[in-house]
Amino acid sequence: MTTKVRFAPSPTGKLHVGNVRTALTNVLYARQTGGTFLLRIDDTDLERSTRAFEDGIRNDLTWLGLIWDESFNQSDRFDTYAAAAQKLKDMGLLYPAYETGEELDRKRKIQRAQGKPPVYDRAALSLTDEQKSAYEAEGRKPHWRFKLSGKPVSWNDLVRGETTIETSSLSDPILIREDGSYLYTLPSVVDDIEAGITTIIRGEDHTTNSGAQIEIFEALGGKVPDFGHQALLVGADGGKLSKRLGTLAIEDLREVEGFEPMAILSLLAKIGTSDPIEAFTDIQTLIDQFSFDKFSRAPARFDPEELKRINARVLHQLDYADVRDRLAAMDADGGEAFWHAVAPNLERLSDARTWHTLIEGPVTPVIEEADYIAQAAAALPEGELTAESWGIWTGSLKEITGRKGKALFMPLRMALTGEQHGPDMSELLPLIGRDRALDRLKA
Ligand code: GLU
Repeated sequence: MTTKVRFAPSPTGKLHVGNVRTALTNVLYARQTGGTFLLRIDDTDLERSTRAFEDGIRNDLTWLGLIWDESFNQSDRFDTYAAAAQKLKDMGLLYPAYETGEELDRKRKIQRAQGKPPVYDRAALSLTDEQKSAYEAEGRKPHWRFKLSGKPVSWNDLVRGETTIETSSLSDPILIREDGSYLYTLPSVVDDIEAGITTIIRGEDHTTNSGAQIEIFEALGGKVPDFGHQALLVGADGGKLSKRLGTLAIEDLREVEGFEPMAILSLLAKIGTSDPIEAFTDIQTLIDQFSFDKFSRAPARFDPEELKRINARVLHQLDYADVRDRLAAMDADGGEAFWHAVAPNLERLSDARTWHTLIEGPVTPVIEEADYIAQAAAALPEGELTAESWGIWTGSLKEITGRKGKALFMPLRMALTGEQHGPDMSELLPLIGRDRALDRLKA
């Protein structure tokens, strides 16, 4: 059987690291099994869904290299959902309920006060036709609930192992709101059946929904797919990530922070698994190493500091050809030798701009010991500067001045770059070149 998976974001906000981890797991599984990856846009909530968020999602996934094989929008399929809803109504499994939000709140309060779980009491199931007509005459519109079996629903979860949901402890889920709009529950099942989804991989927050959805799959005569519910992401301190997700939007990680897509994928593929976290430069390795068996049931800690470290390591492994266009776009393409000199110093690619300026100028030389720097200018090797020049130059300065260590190197670095830190001077010096070096030493 070929696998088919889907990632089903609602376009009501930006993609963040939590959603992308789900998308990535789906992609890795699909690619490893030679299956199909569907991107489904869950936009049944017409008020909160926007085209801009949808475009953002597609853009983010493309940038990350999480490319889908098929895609559709739920908003194009309302007729199909209506037909499925009608089928459930005809089977007596989808029933109208007329309670208002306040009435339901009151019921729950009373149940809690009595020490009972706040489960819907199914009062609507015993409404007579007259009572329903009376509600309608009052102007009330029904919402529609799915009648759960009250039996346990079990499955062998790809991440959690044997899992059971007691539907007797759940409220019959509302599938259609009183304004006629669909919650995600029914359209998702209808689409999963029609698209032939074999495996649903999503966050642990959906585990309870899966109990109800499995009963809907069965009611509609669909084949129940396999399920894998991943533990959620938490912050580095183990606390909730949800509050900080705003700043962990992929768009911001890309455009504000300048992270590499493979840094984000490397971290998201490995946190919460038994594999070590490493910097990978291609997705194929992640595909090869993927296994549900490696996922822990404990929440996965997402640490932005770790992302920075991985990003640096990803950058260090990139070839000049991989980055040339991006360097050019930020006006920092100094050629291959430039890239080799600066890459080990970069945390973000955009840092290359700073190094590019160090070489091309303008640089404000910092000269604290004018006599020493004058000696240095005089001792700069003749002719074109090469990778050996720095060693030759500092070797002769050591002999002339008796200086060593920091006292020997640091004034040179500060005069040539205006900075205390930076790329290896033996690589930087030939890039700066003799003329610019002399200009700065004599500034
Ligand atoms: N649109 C739903 C969500 O984002 C889909 C859940 C699912 O994967 O089934 O929560």
